[in-house]
Amino acid sequence: MAAKNVVFVGNWKMYKTGDEAKSFVRELAEKIEGNTNKVYLAVPYTAIRPAADAAEGTPIVIGAQNMNDASEGAFTGEIAGRMLKEANAQFVILGHSERRHIFYETSDFVNRKLKKALQEGLEPIVCIGETLQERDEKRTEKVLEEQLTQSFAGISAAQMEGLMIAYEPVWAIGTGRTASPKEAEEAHEFCRSFIKKNWSDKVAKKSVILYGGSVKPDNVGALLEQPNINGVLVGGASLSVESFSKIINYQSGNV
Ligand code: PGA
Repeated sequence: MAAKNVVFVGNWKMYKTGDEAKSFVRELAEKIEGNTNKVYLAVPYTAIRPAADAAEGTPIVIGAQNMNDASEGAFTGEIAGRMLKEANAQFVILGHSERRHIFYETSDFVNRKLKKALQEGLEPIVCIGETLQERDEKRTEKVLEEQLTQSFAGISAAQMEGLMIAYEPVWAIGTGRTASPKEAEEAHEFCRSFIKKNWSDKVAKKSVILYGGSVKPDNVGALLEQPNINGVLVGGASLSVESFSKIINYQSGNV
């Protein structure tokens, strides 16, 4: 297994309370001891502080799954980046397909959130990905190009450098149907060449492009072997210490 540095991001969605998060983080930290890759956990808002407290002194980084683009305001049910920061979130997932499809978020809105997250010092992970219909109609690259163009409009090369992007084909999320390593690699390669064309070769090389969609302990290795896949965004399989630690430890051959 190639010893490349990769990023593992868990996305808990609307699962787990603060207490559950605390014990999870402690157990996970024990199970992944010695691992040198980055491990991020995007938890529900109310679990951020307890999870961040439990993660202190461990390599686990705690973040949120969404934020609003305003600092404050009459936006019932929304949350601001500075509130996430105060709760000790260090990163935020933006434009997840569930936000785009269930809550009708547009790439333009994601772009405003991205600018705000950068301003607030929250590390963003911007998600993109095509639906099954778009893939079947052979529009994958067109959709990715549109999402990338709009979501990253006005972002400078300096801001873009090292930024995390998650390619998550909508048809692979929570369905048990993963993109094949080849399908994922093709999309990642497309994203990286888009970045090269619109920013620079240096920025493209430093971009961290994650794959998400039904990542499991038994398929993570083949995905991470692809040259343009720099990490994985894991939903369902990040909910149990057992499976998430297996995914993380795959690299070090501990499985
Ligand atoms: P999944 O979710 O691993 O359960 O498919 C991935 C995601 O939504 O980020």
